[in-house]
Amino acid sequence: MAVTYVRGKGGGMGQPKDMEADVVIVGAGLSGLIAARTVLEAGLTPLIVEADDRVGGRILTEEALPGIPLDLGAQWIGDTHHRMFALAAELGVETFAQYDEGETSYDLAGSGVMRENDFHSRYGEELTHLERVLRTLDELAAEVPADAPWLAPHAAEWDAITAAAWYDAQGLSVIARTLLEICTVGILAVPTAEVSFLHLLFTIQTCGVTSELFAESEGGAQTTRFVGGTSEIPRRLAALLSEHIVLDAPVQLIEHAADGVTVHCRGGRTFRGRRVIVSISPTLAGRIAYDPPLPGDRDQLTQRMPNGSAMKAFFVYDEPFWRAEGLNGQLISDVGPARMSNDTCVPGDDHGVILLFLEGEQARVANRLTAAERQAALTDELVRHYGSRAARPQFYVDGEWSDRQWTRGCYNANMGPLVWTTYGSTLAAPIGVIHWASTDTASSWSAYMEGAVEAGERAAHEVIRAR
Ligand SMILES: Cc1cc2nc3c(=O)[nH]c(=O)nc-3n(C[C@H](O)[C@H](O)[C@H](O)COP(=O)(O)OP(=O)(O)OC[C@H]3O[C@@H](n4cnc5c(N)ncnc54)[C@H](O)[C@@H]3O)c2cc1C
Repeated sequence: MAVTYVRGKGGGMGQPKDMEADVVIVGAGLSGLIAARTVLEAGLTPLIVEADDRVGGRILTEEALPGIPLDLGAQWIGDTHHRMFALAAELGVETFAQYDEGETSYDLAGSGVMRENDFHSRYGEELTHLERVLRTLDELAAEVPADAPWLAPHAAEWDAITAAAWYDAQGLSVIARTLLEICTVGILAVPTAEVSFLHLLFTIQTCGVTSELFAESEGGAQTTRFVGGTSEIPRRLAALLSEHIVLDAPVQLIEHAADGVTVHCRGGRTFRGRRVIVSISPTLAGRIAYDPPLPGDRDQLTQRMPNGSAMKAFFVYDEPFWRAEGLNGQLISDVGPARMSNDTCVPGDDHGVILLFLEGEQARVANRLTAAERQAALTDELVRHYGSRAARPQFYVDGEWSDRQWTRGCYNANMGPLVWTTYGSTLAAPIGVIHWASTDTASSWSAYMEGAVEAGERAAHEVIRAR
């Protein structure tokens, strides 16, 4: 079937109101773009219908100052993100290693500001205990099938408690428990009191082991960045698919029957296909109307998968002055709004760039402040760790995601207690001609770009097999 190239507001002069394709794909995030490319390569015609005026979704690079792209969304890949490395190579997007020289600065549970070596010396025993707990987590996670966590041998028991309850039962010192909370919230973007323990184990299992999740280098999830910023990936993918993408088209209703779908967008445009891949987070998928309505179990699931809360804040300085002090730009703290930071300088540029993460409760609280109030509170925190030069940035920007209409929180969807075991089997299972993608449905590196690619490929292959 022929598809017409459309960008911008539809239904106006020279733009057709209705279009047809083999597969309509809702959402031009990484998962939707990959799904489109995969079905196109198999000889099917995709049509991506995107609500926003851009592609990329949770990937968003903005050039703050000339030559300094800042990733307000996804930024890193890790050594086991094989699909992402392959995709970058194929698209010609170069990568570079995350800066990781020097010590991390700690300020935890009343420790005061301490450098990494001193922190490890003083709290060696507590950290050894924490290591043992992490090994136990790895062992338990290994029992969880990543594509069907509800089938884990102890699924009912693990899904009935929160990650916080399990953590609290491990007898960790305050320092170790605080560190574990920070590391976990840094991944899930919600307090561990909101997370099913089974969901935590699932998350670890989809990524391998805890060291993959929590470590920054040597195999962690944050070893590598993209030259030009991560948006180079969706931008180049979209360039290959431009005739198959419609922007500014929020999907409101999907009519579905055995012989096809009609996708209705705001503004009255409709798109017809034999199948549809809904490539948005489950909570947003639940805001679309379906005719006939979806089974109750599926709707109950999407009522129970809220997106997390995270915010990134960037300070740009004339130079990375912390490096000369032997610091790597990372802080781990429970004092101040940010729990962690990173050196996110751009190779070949002299500026110093520090990125602060606000996650879970910190992001929720900070989002109620003005940007100036956030900057002031974060500056105090940076000054404590890096000295008075930290108070003199050339540029500041931050970005929260729950305000964004077509994302409504990040990094991904959370599962509280009893969701996986009650409704989890409906997460990725097709319903008639409706298929589900997005990183939130992945069984490998769910929540990450790697997961978005996996889920997009999986949904595309479901469609290809069904033709
Ligand atoms: C702050 C932040 C930091 C992150 N850091 C990392 C990182 O360092 N490494 C990493 O691997 N991952 C990271 N992630 C996660 C990563 O961005 C996601 O896993 C990935 O981009 C998700 O892609 P997706 O296609 O599944 O979903 P999305 O990117 O959410 O794509 C969904 C698309 O659907 C559109 N849409 C929504 N509703 C509708 C509708 N009704 N009709 C039509 N279109 C609609 C949206 O506009 C969007 O374009 C981060 C995310 C954020 C926000």
